[in-house]
Amino acid sequence: MSLKALWARLTVATLLPVTLVTMTLSPIFASHLEERVDSARRSVEALLASEYEMLLQGMNESLNQVLSTAEFPLLSRFLTGQQATLSPAQDIASQRNREQVESLFDTLLTHYDRYTRLAVIDVNGHELVASTAVPLLSRPPVVDHGKTPAFQEAMTLQPRDLFVSPPRLGASGEDEELVTAVIDISTPIFDERGQRIGVLLFTLDWSRITANLPYAQENGRGEALLVDSQGGWILPGSDGQGDRFGQPLMNQWPTAWEVMSTRNQGMVTLEENLLGFRSHDIRTQHYRSQAGMILSQPETQPWRLGILIPRPRLVGILKENPVQLVAIALVYLLSVAFGVFWVLSNHRLRGLRQRALQFSREARQYAGEVQDLYEHAPCGYHSLDSNGRVVKINRTELDWLGYRAAEVIGMRHYRDFVTPETREAFDGAFHQVLNQGQEGSAECELLCRDGTRLPVAIQATAQVTEEGFQYSRAMVFDLRERKQLEEQLVKLALTDPLTGLGNRRYLEGQAAMEIARNQRSGAPLTLIAIDLDHFKRINDNYGHDVGDLVLQAFANTARELLRDGDVLCRMGGEEFAVLLPDTTREQAIQVAERLREAVATTPTKVGHAVTADGMLAYSASLGVTLVSAGEDSLKPAIKRADQGLYAAKEAGRNRVHWEKA
Ligand code: GH3
Ligand code: MG
Ligand code: MG
Repeated sequence: MSLKALWARLTVATLLPVTLVTMTLSPIFASHLEERVDSARRSVEALLASEYEMLLQGMNESLNQVLSTAEFPLLSRFLTGQQATLSPAQDIASQRNREQVESLFDTLLTHYDRYTRLAVIDVNGHELVASTAVPLLSRPPVVDHGKTPAFQEAMTLQPRDLFVSPPRLGASGEDEELVTAVIDISTPIFDERGQRIGVLLFTLDWSRITANLPYAQENGRGEALLVDSQGGWILPGSDGQGDRFGQPLMNQWPTAWEVMSTRNQGMVTLEENLLGFRSHDIRTQHYRSQAGMILSQPETQPWRLGILIPRPRLVGILKENPVQLVAIALVYLLSVAFGVFWVLSNHRLRGLRQRALQFSREARQYAGEVQDLYEHAPCGYHSLDSNGRVVKINRTELDWLGYRAAEVIGMRHYRDFVTPETREAFDGAFHQVLNQGQEGSAECELLCRDGTRLPVAIQATAQVTEEGFQYSRAMVFDLRERKQLEEQLVKLALTDPLTGLGNRRYLEGQAAMEIARNQRSGAPLTLIAIDLDHFKRINDNYGHDVGDLVLQAFANTARELLRDGDVLCRMGGEEFAVLLPDTTREQAIQVAERLREAVATTPTKVGHAVTADGMLAYSASLGVTLVSAGEDSLKPAIKRADQGLYAAKEAGRNRVHWEKA
């Protein structure tokens, strides 16, 4: 497998477990997340309800206080007193009323730190009494309320009606210089006869009311939103003023405003946050106050209150629980490690399998080659069981024998193929293989199907295991060629190359057999010694080659003349001998005479280059003797025949001489 494929597998092995683990874990995460979101929703709903309640409570409390203060007879008395032209006694009473009003205001300011300024205004907008939460100022500056909405609107209201201004920036309760968010609540004051005689104006530190909004900065996790109907922030910051006061919500939370401006209440999921919101119209939602009607600047109502908390996210949940995070990381790590390990071990296994396949292919090929070698080896192979039955035999040997494998394997004993003459040698060798040194060899002859005999050499070894002899394994060599070669060599050693006749050794061999036979049968055995006459002269006169031709011519002449059983051989040079079995003295002399005559009358054809007629006549002298019955060897007979030969030479050559034993 290539490296590229391995990388591809590793990538899959990494991605697959990650995907599977993610698929397995995601429903768990999803339900966990959903739970958190639900819980966050519930908490937003609870917070919104509680904040709304706080706001409502704070406002209602103030509204009720304004109303109950406005109904104080003291105020009506004080204002009535201010309208009339006063006698000195009345002036003193009026002064006392003023002091009582101031004292009432001081008490309210002391008990309720939410108020920054309390004032009583006459119908002309002139401020008659004013108290502030600033202790250093003995008397706050007189304000002309003629054109303020709080005064103008209150002047149009009926008893127990209220005007509530939108939050605005004004003087702080503690410090005249500081600017803080304030809200004005005003109500008309009527005398006993129902005459409108003035306006009571309470200015509240808006941050005191909204400070109760509990969630605002709690934990720093979420945020409370309070905007007017135009989307302007009306929630002061913790410093009482806030950077955002009056700024459009749109600037910071455009999506939040988009939703809040279109619906009165709801719960939405923004990109990062959960937003719960509801609207609060001060003009209508004051059911626990004692107010009749509440008026406000219409374009600022209703207020919209919202709670914004971060939307629960998976990462956040996991971060909350590092152990869980580690466990999940571990699951991913383990699954990827498992995938990678699987790929690597599979890769290794693949390599091993490929190598094993390669080995097995090579082994099969090798086994095939070995089988082929076995079947077609130049020698025979066979294996025999302990009974000598053939359990395996190669094609070569089957071809030699002329049988098919099915006819032999498990069917025949090898001994059956061995000729009876050589069976003993085979049995001896097989016995050796079975019982002794586990090796044996024999030269035998095999009997082939076509009846021919095949000389073979068998070399066998035993295959032995711990359980003992299993089978014998033998190599069988065809000895035909070797035998032929040996025969040729023997023949060559006994043959004269020039004439093709047997040589002296051949004669001796033949003689030994004939003498033995002669001794057994008592038949006569005679010997003729032949020597060509004046052969040296032929050589000298016509050359050695011509001499050779003469020698060959003599051999042919003699061969034609003699019987099959006669043994003609060249003894050396131009000397020959003939052993004549079953031949008497007379017969032998007759043969010798015929031979002499044939030689003398059969000139050798030597070619016109040598002689005029192309022929060369020659002659031979012959000595004849009897191989005596008592003689074991041919030597004495040869000697006698030679003597006869000399005698013939002596007598003039070209003649036959009988030499007596
Ligand atoms: P004799 O009649 O007394 O037998 O006289 P001869 O010349 O035949 O006898 P000698 O023994 O003197 O000579 C024999 C010659 O035969 C001598 C030798 O050179 C020759 N000779 C021996 N062997 C061969 C052979 O194989 N070929 C040829 N061409 N000559 C041979
Ligand atoms: Mg001679
Ligand atoms: Mg001679």
